[in-house]
Amino acid sequence: METVFIDGSTGEGGGQILRTSLALSCITGKSLHIENIRAARRNPGLAKQHLSCVRAVCEICSGQCRGAALRSGTLDFHPAPVQSGDFRFDIGSAGSASLVIQTVLPALFLADKPSAVTVTGGTHNPLAPPFDFLSETFLPAIEAVGFRGSCKLIKHGFYPAGGGKITFNVQPWQKSTDRVIKLCESSEQFQIHARIYTAKLPPHIAQRQRKLLLQSGLNIRNVEHIEVTDSDGPGNCAMIRLCDSSRTTVFTAFGMRGKPSQQVVSEVVNLAENFLTSGAAIDRFLADQLLIYMAISKAGSYTTNELSSHLQTNMEVIKKFLPVNFRVEQQKQAYTISCLPRTN
Ligand code: AMP
Repeated sequence: METVFIDGSTGEGGGQILRTSLALSCITGKSLHIENIRAARRNPGLAKQHLSCVRAVCEICSGQCRGAALRSGTLDFHPAPVQSGDFRFDIGSAGSASLVIQTVLPALFLADKPSAVTVTGGTHNPLAPPFDFLSETFLPAIEAVGFRGSCKLIKHGFYPAGGGKITFNVQPWQKSTDRVIKLCESSEQFQIHARIYTAKLPPHIAQRQRKLLLQSGLNIRNVEHIEVTDSDGPGNCAMIRLCDSSRTTVFTAFGMRGKPSQQVVSEVVNLAENFLTSGAAIDRFLADQLLIYMAISKAGSYTTNELSSHLQTNMEVIKKFLPVNFRVEQQKQAYTISCLPRTN
């Protein structure tokens, strides 16, 4: 069987190159040889979250791998056919549980029976999809094209303590040629809600962030405060949720020691404002996460507000495994990304 060679230092040079490669290796049965893993990151090589992704794909398909060790920069992975089942993975750090789940999901959707995946790690940590994004933005977007599941937050886990838990139930893909990703129209009418999480922190933090959110230029209808009592350590994030009749887009900014609430709130407000002024249908995070699902169905298109390096790099990685091409067209402030079957 063919081996796909990936240079992990190209483009974005981060963990997504590894995760996409592992997921597609599982689906296609092609072996993977990847070098320079996360070469563009401050702490290159496999961190605990990435090692958990490697172990997770090995487990769902009884695959073989060499180089699965902390800080390893090279990995060989030989997949076998994927088996559905009840899987439990413990990252052992605040590494993102959502990202481990997203790595195994495509292969489990293509299995013939349902699966359940439970991951212990971070549920709300920077630079990854928080649980709210997974459940309110990502899952509904893929469910619309037959990738059905349900997810549940069992316990909150913030960076750096981790220790949270998410369960994701996966149903086999209900393939239908007339259901492809088509998210090109921006919504006319959003209801804007905000959500603040605090864990083990003094009450004035949420009060201040609530005030700042209500004073922002966005017409925020209500601010929900979730005071987390089950987490192992402290944590804080502010979210803006743009809701219309068919979609919810969740934007998040994280608080941390020494970072003023003003900065947390202005980060999340900027994310939402940039998206709203672009006229795009989906945000830049969902954009890179949906690519693999478009590629599996060899069709689909969406508009997004940013041609992020995650998005561009992910397109290149996907093209190495699957017979698809992507077309990128720029409008004024948005980009249309389309996926087409490749004939040569
Ligand atoms: P990497 O940096 O290569 O490990 O990839 C990070 C992944 O997390 C990408 O798929 C991003 O789209 C996703 N991500 C990062 N921040 C957020 C966020 N605030 N909301 C949703 N997804 C995010």
